[in-house]
Amino acid sequence: MEKLAYFDSSHEMPLEIIMAAGFTPYKILGDVHQSNDPADKYLSSFFCPAARSWLTEALTHAKEWAGIVFAQGCNSTNRHYDIWKVHVQTPFLHWFGVPLLDSAAAKKHYRVELQRLISHIEDHFHIKITSEKISEAIGKSNEIKKKLQRLSAFRYQKDIPNRDYLTAMIKCLTCPVDEISAWLDSEIKAWNAKPAFPSGKKRFLLTGSDITYVEWMDTLDDCGIRIVRDDLSIGERFFATLIPNKNDPLESLLEYYMNIPKPATRPTIQKRLDYLYKALGETKVDGVLSQNVKFCEPFAYDSVPVNNALKDKGYKVIHLERDFSPAADQQLANRLAAFVEMMEEGNNE
Ligand code: SF4
Repeated sequence: MEKLAYFDSSHEMPLEIIMAAGFTPYKILGDVHQSNDPADKYLSSFFCPAARSWLTEALTHAKEWAGIVFAQGCNSTNRHYDIWKVHVQTPFLHWFGVPLLDSAAAKKHYRVELQRLISHIEDHFHIKITSEKISEAIGKSNEIKKKLQRLSAFRYQKDIPNRDYLTAMIKCLTCPVDEISAWLDSEIKAWNAKPAFPSGKKRFLLTGSDITYVEWMDTLDDCGIRIVRDDLSIGERFFATLIPNKNDPLESLLEYYMNIPKPATRPTIQKRLDYLYKALGETKVDGVLSQNVKFCEPFAYDSVPVNNALKDKGYKVIHLERDFSPAADQQLANRLAAFVEMMEEGNNE
């Protein structure tokens, strides 16, 4: 099945429309191991390095995809669309204008945008995206979300390296849905059979910019940190809630995408905090790790009020800014190791 790629700085893209059109939704995630030189011809180096890496991937691989949908995400990257329009060679490029708010007017706008996306895909590829096909895609999406909910719960009880969780998430966002569904079944069995949670590790909730490469997750393991909860888009935000079952599948999508846990790119901070409080209420953690990749302004700005609110509730919170690089960052590792050590000293007092 051909891939229809999408640019999505959080979880805004209604994958079910792509699935209903008969394509594999492929989230463009870039490659931290490749130089960003191709994108840096068009974007200054003070722009988000993750988004520059996505442009690099598109400049190199767009010809392998049926097309690209660009979902309106964060204000730091929305206007990158103008650069993609001019420089990325693709037979199909669509701007999906996701509203920022969830008011009645925003819902109306969202519905228009869904219909505009459907019509554009239908006209360009000469296909029909029926309500039945969208409903079927919603069913498949929910199946994946339920399996991810089961899989992710093992993080608390079992010895699951941080990289294994991120690898599973990336696979779910880039591979054919039917293939993923069968693979998740085998992973659930495999994770269930793993040894118990290692006694020397601390349980953390991870929040902030999306992590797109496994090496950074390894650094956390090296510092004695296991991520057992998160609110990332390449993470729990993707599977925290199921798509409701309504007579009109567009209404189901509308309700789902407007009510998923909020990232820093969407108002309000309180709504983002609501999910964090819920996760922290459900799962006892030793600490909260908040981070943003360099030049990610949405999560950097949000981190101050969000982290202060969590600290006020008594949670132990550390905030870090990280480079976009697979190389181990020793300074960052030292800070994390010192934070974990302080926790242990606090527990022994
Ligand atoms: S990492 Fe931050 S700046 Fe970059 S695309 Fe995501 S939200 Fe936007």
